[in-house]
Amino acid sequence: MSIKQEIERLRGELPEGVKLLAVSKFHPVEALQEAYDAGQRAFGESRPQELKAKQAVLPDDIEWHMIGHLQTNKIKYIAPYVHLIESLDSERLAEAIDKEAAKCGRTIDCLLEVHITAEESKSGWDYAELLAFVREGGFERLPNIRIRGVMGMATFTDDEATVRADFERLKACKAELAQYFGDEFDTLSMGMSDDYPIAIEYGSTEVRIGSTIFGAREY
Ligand SMILES: *Cc1c(COP(=O)(O)O)cnc(C)c1O
Repeated sequence: MSIKQEIERLRGELPEGVKLLAVSKFHPVEALQEAYDAGQRAFGESRPQELKAKQAVLPDDIEWHMIGHLQTNKIKYIAPYVHLIESLDSERLAEAIDKEAAKCGRTIDCLLEVHITAEESKSGWDYAELLAFVREGGFERLPNIRIRGVMGMATFTDDEATVRADFERLKACKAELAQYFGDEFDTLSMGMSDDYPIAIEYGSTEVRIGSTIFGAREY
């Protein structure tokens, strides 16, 4: 299927209230343009310089989402225009984003990336540390970022029960954290090409889909 056909198929399949993020990392701008021409406006990238290079040449009404691990010294590449940083995973990064946002005179929306699997390789905030930071009012000291919800990944496995348990856990984290934020804490970003139908069962409001739309990535 073409990029356009995949996007149309997904759009037909996703329930109302579930947003489609097209994960375009490692794919050329021509592929993003094809998705754009099919009506797609939200794109996810994992590397700040790549995101910036694509943003410079593609239409202005694209919503750029940062979904990969972000180093503090690279925030500057995306701070002026990024729509949502989904990979906020530490206090240090939160402080640095707040500072860059202030320099640009904007408030940057972020998701709290929670590490819930046993896999060391996965990024994300240790949940107990995150909860402690939230409870002590950590984000109240950072007025230039606005926390919109939670992002997470399930374990990379064929075992469906494990994947279900992971999504259940992310849903519970989001519910627990919600009491410390306002109505704007409305996003639960979970589900990728291989597991998004399950994520939707557990209340995902945004699925991040790459290879199903664009094919395999060439690293
Ligand atoms: C790459 C990536 C995706 C998309 O993965 P696919 O399996 O290609 O759909 C989603 N979320 C994050 C955080 C990613 O890094």
